[in-house]
Amino acid sequence: MICVPCQLDCPICENEHESDWHFLFDCHDNRRAWQTAGLKAIVLQRTQQFNMPIECLMDICKNTDKDTAGKAAMVIWLLWNNRNNWVWNHTKESGQQLGHKALCLWNKWNEVQTVRNHSSRREQQATQWQKLQQLWLKCNLS
Ligand SMILES: [Zn+2]
Repeated sequence: MICVPCQLDCPICENEHESDWHFLFDCHDNRRAWQTAGLKAIVLQRTQQFNMPIECLMDICKNTDKDTAGKAAMVIWLLWNNRNNWVWNHTKESGQQLGHKALCLWNKWNEVQTVRNHSSRREQQATQWQKLQQLWLKCNLS
């Protein structure tokens, strides 16, 4: 039988048992990421209110604005990537770097969405139906 050895301690701090709660909300470096992204109070409030990470995250999605929930999603995604980069490639970034990166990525994502929405509206206008010139037939398929 082949076994893959798994480390039970948190690979980021190597001080605590790795659990989803510890990883997301208690690990010192990761807490710094939340703080740098401006979400410390948002997260702290939920961790005092709920017992499971899923409850905290769902509440952030339901009861904060799109901007806050989007930044939270970026932080989580970066924390997870950072953890895996450390485990598999021995490279990691500090919590502060991750927090800045989360804000930067969120802003870029927002810009792209704005441009995309703008251009798709323009495309819609450009492709609006127009009466054809005589002797032309048009067939639309969907
Ligand atoms: Zn840790």
